[in-house]
Amino acid sequence: MHYGYDSKVAVVTGGSSGIGLATVETLLGSGARVALCARTESRLNDVAAVLVRDHGEDRVMARALSVLDPQAVNAFAGEVEARFGRCDLLVNNAGQGRVSTFADTTDEDWRAEYELKLFSQIHPTRAFLPMLRRAKGAIVAVNSLLAYQPEPHMVCTSSARAGVQNLVKSLSVELAPDVRVNSILLGLVGSGQWSRRFAEREDQSQSRAEWYGALAARKGIPLGRLGDPAEAAAAIAFLGSPAASYITGAQLEVSGGLSRYI
Ligand code: NDP
Repeated sequence: MHYGYDSKVAVVTGGSSGIGLATVETLLGSGARVALCARTESRLNDVAAVLVRDHGEDRVMARALSVLDPQAVNAFAGEVEARFGRCDLLVNNAGQGRVSTFADTTDEDWRAEYELKLFSQIHPTRAFLPMLRRAKGAIVAVNSLLAYQPEPHMVCTSSARAGVQNLVKSLSVELAPDVRVNSILLGLVGSGQWSRRFAEREDQSQSRAEWYGALAARKGIPLGRLGDPAEAAAAIAFLGSPAASYITGAQLEVSGGLSRYI
């Protein structure tokens, strides 16, 4: 699908894998020039080489950095401005979940989780804001259903996710009318995180389809399967696009119907 990003520039954090990579591909396929970042340089370079081959060197920029490093994020924004001259969409996607109950979450874990969830939104937003304002652009925060429907086995992730949702709402007011700010709430999407958990499965004889199917049944996902990263990317691309021009401060669930609240 083409989301109308011709002549636009998008930035995707955590763009080397899973939902971030699917978002990069969707936006490139919709005409955008895209800058992506992630920490692991080797994987980022491999991904960037394929993207450049498929979409052209003039449309892709990749930088290895952590979104938790404000200097590096600021430098990234400066490079995007120098190279592409603008930023129309910022997708704050970088991160991962933490599986732990209250009993086995240390103070250090709590601090690390809050730092990751909140500053992965704060640093890129601050760095790209001047360009986003000039472009009358949009921010999409990649968040989780856990913000509204906490899971005791992911206690600190759930709690920090609720904080992110609160932040998104404040930003949508403070940055209006220049910049729209929305979020997607993910259920279970079969990306890097779930591939890693699949690789570590107890019963190594289970195929991916069996393991994912059993997981979907256990979790009670009405659509009966995990989401595909491209399905999350489609929601992100929509929210960032001109088709969503009157949508801000909203959240779009991409969960196969997993939520239980109205
Ligand atoms: P992946 O592990 O496939 O991808 C995560 C990406 O983020 C990678 O590119 C990773 O690269 C990058 N990343 C992680 N930490 C940092 C950092 N500090 N700075 C820069 N880049 C970073 O995960 P998903 O695609 O599944 O997850 C994408 C987002 O969606 C995450 O925020 C995740 O928490 C969220 N989410 C995912 C769900 C799911 O079911 N998949 C459910 C709910 C939320 P590198 O490690 O090299 O830095």
